[in-house]
Amino acid sequence: MSDDPPLLSRIEAVEDPALERTLGELGLVEDVSVSDGVAAVTLRFDAPYAPDEKAIGDRLREVVRAAGLEPELSAWDGNPDPNNPLESVRNVIPVASGKGGVGKTTVATNLATALAERGATVGLLDADIYGPNVPGMLGVEAEPGLSMSGTLVPPVVDELRVMSMDFLTEGDEDPAMLRGPMVDKLLAELIRDVEWGTLDYLFVDLPPGTGDEQLTLMQHVPVTGAVVVTTPEDIALGDVRKGIRMFLDQGIPVLGLVENMSSFHCPSCGDDHPLYGTGGGEQLATEFDLPLLASIPMDPEIRASGDATTAVTVVEDTPAADQFRQLRDAVTNQVGAVNRAAVADLDPQSSDNPLVEPTQGEKDGREDRTEQHDATS
Ligand code: ADP
Ligand code: MG
Repeated sequence: MSDDPPLLSRIEAVEDPALERTLGELGLVEDVSVSDGVAAVTLRFDAPYAPDEKAIGDRLREVVRAAGLEPELSAWDGNPDPNNPLESVRNVIPVASGKGGVGKTTVATNLATALAERGATVGLLDADIYGPNVPGMLGVEAEPGLSMSGTLVPPVVDELRVMSMDFLTEGDEDPAMLRGPMVDKLLAELIRDVEWGTLDYLFVDLPPGTGDEQLTLMQHVPVTGAVVVTTPEDIALGDVRKGIRMFLDQGIPVLGLVENMSSFHCPSCGDDHPLYGTGGGEQLATEFDLPLLASIPMDPEIRASGDATTAVTVVEDTPAADQFRQLRDAVTNQVGAVNRAAVADLDPQSSDNPLVEPTQGEKDGREDRTEQHDATS
């Protein structure tokens, strides 16, 4: 028996809580086949280790077990796209900001490490030509290897596959002196000529600004969505706004904002001090209708771990490590929601898409429709 209509309809009736529709309505069930008491369910899910997708998976397992079968869930691999140089990478996620020194590298390395720690296969591409800090922060000592076919094999540190501009511009080359086209060429090489293998997530630590490097990345690979880092003070916000607009102008979703250095938790007096002011992350989130994914305090542990060449999440169980794990969960949930909305062909701009926060007027209209629905059902 290759198909079981009653089971299929029960599976398709399961709700996607983030998109507020059933899996069937969203077209997320690729295949259900039953044999020898096992129901193999293939879903068009693409965010490994996202808590929301795990919860939907758990619900589906209950439904299958209730039908007296053993569930076997898997994610669909998609159609191969020969034009995509990162075809075996499920999600490409730039970590960006319009501004330098806000903690992009800190966020990118800790986020990547926290995901790898969970079991995901993760790559980290350090594309910051002006300050390639990833190898330093993670303590990468190995050089990339060279495969038989001449591609670069990234060194593995803390379970992460790492490539950096730093590896390509060693010796007497001062990367900051390279001309634009040279930078483009190097970045394209880092994307195309690296043996990333199969990855669940590839994080890209982008340089500050809204220039060539960012555009090169976006022209060469399909980007899932960006994580934008800001600090709370007003002066940072103008630059970060430009950073957000750059992605949105290219039609690239912004998964959400991270407010870094939100406050300083004083170890001696126990109080939180807002060294850089308050509310910047919240303000941008409201302005652009984006989720605020995490607020990470200033924590001497974070700086010390950066200098000590270990990400906080692999250090010990510190409050800072917990913040990064929360950020990991929020980011993967957003990746999942964006990918599932794309499968379902929900218009990323339309207010019919629950990922788009409605304006007050639309919200009122929506509530009316709900009432009508209740009245008729
Ligand atoms: P960017 O990549 O945006 O230039 P970095 O991640 O290199 O910024 O951070 C700049 C400096 O601030 C680094 O020395 C880093 O260790 C430190 N830092 C970043 N975030 C925090 C934090 N939340 N608490 C303490 N130090 C931090
Ligand atoms: Mg940096």
